[in-house]
Parts: sequence; structure tokens; C-alpha cells
Amino acid sequence: MRLSKTITHITGGGSDGWELFVKARKMIAEGHKVTELTIGEHDIKTDTRILEAMHAAALGGATGYAMVPGIDALRDAVATRLTTRTGVPTALENVLITAGGQAALFAAFRAALDEGDTALFIDPYYATYPGTIRSVGGVPKAVQASADNGFQPTFEALDAAARGAKALLINSPNNPTGAVYSRDTLEMIATVAKAHDLIVISDEVYDTQVWEGEHISIRALDGMAERTFVVGSMSKSHAMTGSRVGWLVGPEGAMEHVLNLLTNTNYGVAGFTQQAALFALGLGEGFEEEIAAPFKRRRALVQKALEGQNLVRLSPPSGAMYVVLDIRATGLSGDAFADKLLMERHIAVMPGESFGQAGAGHIRVAMTIPDAPFEAALKEIVDFTAGLV
Ligand code: PLP
Repeated sequence: MRLSKTITHITGGGSDGWELFVKARKMIAEGHKVTELTIGEHDIKTDTRILEAMHAAALGGATGYAMVPGIDALRDAVATRLTTRTGVPTALENVLITAGGQAALFAAFRAALDEGDTALFIDPYYATYPGTIRSVGGVPKAVQASADNGFQPTFEALDAAARGAKALLINSPNNPTGAVYSRDTLEMIATVAKAHDLIVISDEVYDTQVWEGEHISIRALDGMAERTFVVGSMSKSHAMTGSRVGWLVGPEGAMEHVLNLLTNTNYGVAGFTQQAALFALGLGEGFEEEIAAPFKRRRALVQKALEGQNLVRLSPPSGAMYVVLDIRATGLSGDAFADKLLMERHIAVMPGESFGQAGAGHIRVAMTIPDAPFEAALKEIVDFTAGLV
């Protein structure tokens, strides 16, 4: 089959960064007991009330083709949510429902890029970003953000990279680093975006998981609403990863074109999952806080476990469900450290290198197992590290 260059180059030819994860899963399948701290998925399942709403919606007939832009009630609820949370007046016409945040990212890049256009993103980054850019024929270009700067990008790096670029993807609260961009950082990004006429794609899927500071949407800054797409999702905020409900928000004129893409790709999201998402949003902020609470609690457990030693350093995360640990004192790469930890202590973490060059010498620990084994795993990581130096 003579496949297109675009589809055969989605991974860029290199590693996809998931080798350790695959190795850990293989060990588990072979019967080994492995403490799994790799993946960004809650240790609770979708709330029963949401599942009941889904069931009732399906029995009630929401099993046919749903409206391609999304059901009006859900688009309305998302619009109200953005208006309330970000202060930017948002209407149903600005919102399209997608199959999770990932499909919204794809739609945003498809809307922003022509073949060969450059899209910037901040390194360390969520693993699918470069592949999503390549899958629409774009050229991914990473802009490094260093641990010393709290993993926030600098004007110098961004401005230099922006020459000739078409789009910029940002993600705050950030996966993997937990960085929550400050107003100053976002103002700086907005300045660069305007100066270089960039379309900004703002991935805000962790907006309900903020432990320090506040979540500010770049779309709310002066002159940004007309050049920004916001990516949102029910996955992390409501523990609905498998339901695949997300959204893309942007200027009305742009959304008309994105709708044509949705018509010609997914042709809508299942009506009964949309009804469930609508019900879930109706559970309010208290429910979202409940879903986020374990990560806030476990972040404190990490801080406690790392006290009194300085071999494993923490870049204190301000948000999201991960912590990034600096293990450079061991002289090992993140890859080598994670592999040794898996083989010798049966603990699986993600090497920082899986998230880009700026993650080198770090590991990402997902705070996604119950508190007691989580705390024990952290202590074991500290003990393991002490044995390496
Ligand atoms: N963006 C970030 C930063 C993520 O970490 C994820 C999932 O882990 C996604 C987007 C996609 O999430 P979903 O497609 O489940 O909404």
C-alpha cells in the first residue's frame, strides 16, 4: 500500500517515549507486582450517578446520530462554564463538542496549519503534541522551558522560535511538570503571539486541578479571544476519560470551518455520553473539587516524603496530577533511572525524556494510586536513589 508521508511520519521516526510503560505492562502481564505511576488516569472510576444518567439517556433514545456540533444543551453548558470561569463572554456558537480533548487538539491544528507550517509547543510537553502537529502536515518545533524557571517559557526563547511560525500550543496547568503559568508568563506569550501573528491553542484540560496560584485562560487577555482556540475535556475534571467528551472553543467565524472538519471526520459524539457530560457538569464545582482532592493530598505526601534529603528534588507542582522529580544528582538519565527503578524495585514511572529534552534527568510520577501505597512508593524511590550515589 502506498501510504502518505504524513501518516507514516506521525511519530517523526524516533521513539514514542512509551517504552518503559510498555515494559511495565508486560511485566504485569507476566505476573510481576509493579507499582504503576505512569499514566494520567484517576484511581477511581466514573461516578455512578453519571453512569446512571448515561444509561437513562441511552434508554431514552439518545442512541441515534447526535447533532454534529454537539447537543445544544451541552454546548450551552460549556459556554456558560467558560464565561463564568474565564470572564470571556462565550456563546454556544463558540463551542464544538469533540471526542475528548485529543480530538479538539487535532481539529485546532487542522484549522491553524497548512502543509509545512510550523507549530510551536513548550518542552516538556504532553506526548501527543508533535504527532498531532505532524498528522495535519505541520512541522513541530519545541521551545525549551527549564526547571530553573519553574518550567515556564521565557520571552527570549519564545520570540526567537516564533519567527515564521503559524501557531503556538500552550498547556497550563501543565502535563508533565504541573506548572501553572503566571499572569506575567501569559501576558508575555500573548505579546509574542500578537507580534508574530500566531494562532494560540490553549490546552486547559487540567483547569480544575490547581493547587497554587490561579488558572488564567490566555483567551481572557486583551486581544486574544480572536486568535485563541481553547481545548477542554471532561476526562480529568470529572474522571470520564473513557467517555471521550471534550470541546474546542474559538471565534465563531473559525468554528464554522471546524464544524466542516467534524462533519467529515467523527460525525459527532455519542448522544448518551454528551447527556452524561451535561449531567456531570450540573454536579457543580463541589464535585470537581472532590475529583481533584486526591492529587492535592498526594502532592503534600510527596513533599513530606522528600523532606530531609536533597538527592531527589521536587519542582513543586502548582497543578495537575503529576510531580516531576529531578534525579540529576545520580548522574543517570531519566530513561536509565526509570529502567533501573522498574527492574530493581518494580516501580514504574515515566522518564522525563519521554516529554522532551527539557525533561532530561527527571522522572514524572503520576499521583494516581491510593495514598498509602503512593507514600510507600515515594519512600522507596528516595531509598533507591540514596543507594545510587
Ligand atoms: N492534553 C493533555 C495535557 C493531556 O494530559 C491529555 C491526556 O492525558 C489530553 C490533552 C487529552 O485528554 P482527553 O483526550 O482524554 O480529553
